[in-house]
Amino acid sequence: MPYDTQPTASHFINGEYVEDTSGTAIDVIYPATGEKIATVYAATPAIIEQAITSAKAAQSAWAAMTGTQRGRILRRAADIMRERNHDLSILETYDTGKPYQETSVVDATSGADALEYFGGMAATLTGEHIQLGENWVYTRREALGLCVGIGAWNYPTQIACWKGAPALACGNAMIFKPSETTPLCALKVAEILIEAGLPAGIYNVVQGMGEVGGALVTDPRVDKVSLTGSVPTGRKVYAAAAADIKHVTMELGGKSPMIVFEDANIENAVGGAILGNFYSSGQVCSNGTRVFVHKAIKEQFLKRLTERLGNAVIGDPMDPDTSFGPMVSERQMNIALGYVEKGQAEGARLITGGQRLDREGFYMQPTVFADVTDDMVIAREEIFGPVMAVLDFEDEDDVMTRANDTEFGLAAGVFTNDLSRAHRVAARFEAGTCYINTYNDAPVEAPFGGVKNSGVGRENSKAAINHYSQLKSVFVRMDDVEAPF
Ligand code: NDP
Repeated sequence: MPYDTQPTASHFINGEYVEDTSGTAIDVIYPATGEKIATVYAATPAIIEQAITSAKAAQSAWAAMTGTQRGRILRRAADIMRERNHDLSILETYDTGKPYQETSVVDATSGADALEYFGGMAATLTGEHIQLGENWVYTRREALGLCVGIGAWNYPTQIACWKGAPALACGNAMIFKPSETTPLCALKVAEILIEAGLPAGIYNVVQGMGEVGGALVTDPRVDKVSLTGSVPTGRKVYAAAAADIKHVTMELGGKSPMIVFEDANIENAVGGAILGNFYSSGQVCSNGTRVFVHKAIKEQFLKRLTERLGNAVIGDPMDPDTSFGPMVSERQMNIALGYVEKGQAEGARLITGGQRLDREGFYMQPTVFADVTDDMVIAREEIFGPVMAVLDFEDEDDVMTRANDTEFGLAAGVFTNDLSRAHRVAARFEAGTCYINTYNDAPVEAPFGGVKNSGVGRENSKAAINHYSQLKSVFVRMDDVEAPF
């Protein structure tokens, strides 16, 4: 790779880089050119064993430190990440193909936010005292033990931190398996944590495909699994975790609705639709890919959308002016192009885009279909690419029913200037994360996650603490024990 701060080996275990070239070789491809920039090796059973053994050995001493001590290390790691934002952003761009214009403001920075937020929270984690007459109960908030994090490829740094930061704040150890498509960034997170003072063995990274994830999930020494991935993978991982009644967090896919009422500010609604469909070339789980636009403003909306899409700067993701980059892989691009064909075959009206770009790398145009109907495949299935489906509506009750008529429930958005309607619609959405006159904000302070098939549990915010710790109740009797005999 033409970059001198890339990770130096495939895995990071017990505080150091570890290599084992006997694992399956995984080529790391730069999506903007299709060139191979690195090779990592999937974890062998010996590497997985090494990671689990060192994490198990280190965890109890980490949990025994005070929250202030643990938090100080996480906050120091956040500072280092911010200082190295430029280098980390370039690595993220190599890993994912996302434009530097994006990676420099949302990836290492949001990872650092998570480390800072949960670092600050570590010292505040307490149990409670419950008085029962003369007697009492107190609760202890305890770590779960060994957590496994499994990541998707769209936000490799952010996912590594969103899972690692709350896990570590609560006193757990973590083994993180990045997606095989984007294996590099999590290694830098591990490196930075160690530099910040994290004891060896508390945050480990191992590479591999699904079977490495599967081996981790089924190991009886693992106490919790947090997956960011698709619904089919979520089903498999959830079922495997159930065998040992492991704790789970599932951040899965979506096909989220965005409703634009006739009184909406059109520029803001168009801006929300652009953010919620074309940021990261559409590879965002919470994207509002079913855009319901009131018939009265539909043509105006489509006109402004097309005009503004014409301002997208598509090109070299390392160029800070580029605002739309390639897709993460040829495979993912072909999946999205396949959906474009399906949309055309089903009679949706192609407004703009739809083609692969005639240049090296995995680029496709931002694509908009209008006159999409609820039963079309492009309105039902998650595409995970830059393909927006615009649907018409006239009646609020009707559009609510249609918006909720999906297996998914990750996110939903509404654009309107009617205050009552905005909150009524938000309350009626069957989704874990809702937006009023905005889209796709994900600050660490707010819970993030889905309902229905889009997942269980929440990441970020105070809510995440409940998913990385457990309560022990301790009953204390001051008077005599009364027994029946
Ligand atoms: P996948 O579901 O294909 O993979 C997710 C991760 O799980 C990868 O690391 C994968 O490894 C691993 N994996 C696959 N099979 C197994 C298994 N049997 N046991 C354990 N681990 C396994 O998702 P993608 O990487 O393709 O990411 C896209 C999906 O992620 C979309 O559906 C998207 O909506 C969702 N997503 C959800 C988010 C959320 O917060 N709700 C955020 C971002 C994405 P490998 O790929 O290396 O084989």
